[in-house]
Amino acid sequence: MTDAPLVEVRGLRKHFVQNDGLIDRLMGAEERIKAVDGVDFEIERGETLGLVGESGSGKSTTARSLLRLDEPTAGTVRYDGTDLTELSAGEMKAMRKRIQMVFQDPASSLNRRKTISQLLKQPMEIHGLYEGERDERVDELMETVGLPPQLSNRYPHEFSGGQRQRVGIARALAVDPEFIVADEPVSALDVSIQAQILNLLMDLQDELDLTILFIAHDLSVIRHFCDRVAVMYLGEIVEVADGSDLFESPQHPYTKSLLRAIPEPDPALARTRTALEGEVPSPLDPPSGCSFHSRCPNATEECMATDPPLEAISGANDGHEAACIHVDEFEYGTGFVAEEAVVDDRFSIEGFDHADEPVADGGRSDNE
Ligand code: SF4
Repeated sequence: MTDAPLVEVRGLRKHFVQNDGLIDRLMGAEERIKAVDGVDFEIERGETLGLVGESGSGKSTTARSLLRLDEPTAGTVRYDGTDLTELSAGEMKAMRKRIQMVFQDPASSLNRRKTISQLLKQPMEIHGLYEGERDERVDELMETVGLPPQLSNRYPHEFSGGQRQRVGIARALAVDPEFIVADEPVSALDVSIQAQILNLLMDLQDELDLTILFIAHDLSVIRHFCDRVAVMYLGEIVEVADGSDLFESPQHPYTKSLLRAIPEPDPALARTRTALEGEVPSPLDPPSGCSFHSRCPNATEECMATDPPLEAISGANDGHEAACIHVDEFEYGTGFVAEEAVVDDRFSIEGFDHADEPVADGGRSDNE
């Protein structure tokens, strides 16, 4: 065990070439979609880092590039001191025993023709683990994620969405990983079920000492879950902070907009919100200067010419950084989000003990 971060990402880029035919290349007409364009972050051992942004911000591509499910265009990904981008296919396969992924849609990530038992044994077989003990390991995994072991002979379609996501988590845990990349694992679930799955992940992190990269498009989902949060916009990280700092004192105008976008159940408060207008610009033709300037309420002419680096904010707590040339003009600690108290506790984990989830009969329950 060392004090160095478990994961260190530096200058990560993933560009997709759109016109990649020979003639296009010869004519120099190749177009590059800059899905991830120079991302730096690190994750300490046992830490949960939230990566948040709208659809199209590049967060899922960042995760896939980190795991080399998409080959990075540039940059380094050091995992426990080893640069994953330099590993051969065989070395990367061995490394994937230590790094597992939980996908957004368990319905499509689980082979519907295999039983849950077969699905849970598959990663053990790939990595040659638990030989002669796999049935017992399946029962253990089912219990770990709050599912009755006797249901392991059923097929994915016989389970509800929340139960399938529990299977997806069990599958990720099957090979005893240290690091889990959870790519929008609750986005497809009802709110009450989201809380149950978040509870489960929090319990597992404590019990198994996991390090987690948790991807979400909704800041409210990660409020109770992440130690630190990195906010992505158009392929770049624009703000990173301790979880409580980000919610109490958001500094980048984009982060403030995301916080405003959290659904407000009180109609009176909801009317006071100003929604973020427009859509994320195309990464094929990103805006000049600050990539957020076309939607930013604080934009100046200078913003159109200057691409701001991610830098520490003066007067802020350690580790609070933002990419905005005007950020020091915003008074720290008086973010409008804190003043208007637009962040509520409806995702509070109290009252959502996953032990209460109706899974005993293994069928589709009414509330999932
Ligand atoms: S640099 Fe300018 S456009 Fe970009 S976030 Fe800051 S104020 Fe807005």
